[in-house]
Amino acid sequence: MMAFDVELATQAYMATLKGAARAKSDAYFEGGYWLILWDFLVALIANLIVLRLGWAARLSRWARSKAGPLLAAFLFAVPYLLLITALTLPFSIYTDFVREHAYGLSNQSFAEYGGEQLIFIAVDTLLAALLWMGINATIRRFPRGWWLGGAGLTIGVLMVTITLAPVYLNPLFNDYTPLPDGPVKSEVLKMARANGVPADNVYLVDASRQSDRISANVTGLFGTIRIALNDNLMKQDIHEIRSVMAHELGHYVLNHMWKLIIAVALMIALSLALVAVGTPWLLARLGGRWGIEGMADPGALPALTIVISFVFLLGTPITNSLIRVQEQEADIFGLNAARAPDGFARIAMKLSQYRKIEPGAWEEYIFFDHPSGHTRVRTAMRWKAEHVAEADVR
Ligand SMILES: [Zn+2]
Repeated sequence: MMAFDVELATQAYMATLKGAARAKSDAYFEGGYWLILWDFLVALIANLIVLRLGWAARLSRWARSKAGPLLAAFLFAVPYLLLITALTLPFSIYTDFVREHAYGLSNQSFAEYGGEQLIFIAVDTLLAALLWMGINATIRRFPRGWWLGGAGLTIGVLMVTITLAPVYLNPLFNDYTPLPDGPVKSEVLKMARANGVPADNVYLVDASRQSDRISANVTGLFGTIRIALNDNLMKQDIHEIRSVMAHELGHYVLNHMWKLIIAVALMIALSLALVAVGTPWLLARLGGRWGIEGMADPGALPALTIVISFVFLLGTPITNSLIRVQEQEADIFGLNAARAPDGFARIAMKLSQYRKIEPGAWEEYIFFDHPSGHTRVRTAMRWKAEHVAEADVR
């Protein structure tokens, strides 16, 4: 028997996505690189409009005339956030609705999309306004060291949101039901038990409401942690389903949620430390013209938003790499648990219908929050090469 050749096997998979289909997935994904920059620029322009036309200063005076310092920050934030949402709405509709439809990646009518956005905006605005209330109070109390307290508050809000999301937020958008009895359920629960994952935490979600994308995920913290596989994945072949669910079990067993929260906490503290230097610098130059009195002014929020969006823009490769490294770990855990390298390779090919399949090394490092199709197929074929003689490999 000829030895199994990892490169040849990988290339055989790569050759199944070519021509117009490959050009389309490349164009969709590469367009996303530019959207990161446009997203930043659109938000920048919206904030500059709000500042330059004196709207922020006027809103701040109004909020302070209506309430004490604590509530004034909340009263400023709600109309300010809604104003920014309105100014950036045409761009959001283009990226989230028009562009998704242009690439055939959405199953939603405009009314369904709009209804979802209203819920998103309500929840986002409320959480962000509460957070600004806390951060503004911290700035007034600790004008120099506020960024550390601000980071603590932000992580607190983030953890409460992650914990409550599976129970209170996600059901606003989709139906979550227990897995129906059948071969899929018994195969998934078999792998869950073998890897020490509580089996009553596996759900089915009706994601086909939004799109045909195949997916599964781990959400929640503490008592709310759960694994959900979507109905688009449910329609695939059993070894493809097994390989995806084994990947999700990997996130669970490797405690990826907690590791990510610790990494994100450090990044938020560092980002706010930069904001604590950058925002006063910006306000010292332009605050007078904008009518913003300083960092403690509730109306400092737009300037702070400009600085933090710039920090996050520069941090894109770090954020993507943190997540991508965990995804690669979950891929390898999944291959060991499901023992279905070809099932996993077929799924990687299906996911490459909307993720560029063969990027350059730097491109993958900077822009990919999941390994590319090529990396995933190659990982699967390398695993297969070491196990090809074993009887239970599918
Ligand atoms: Zn994953």
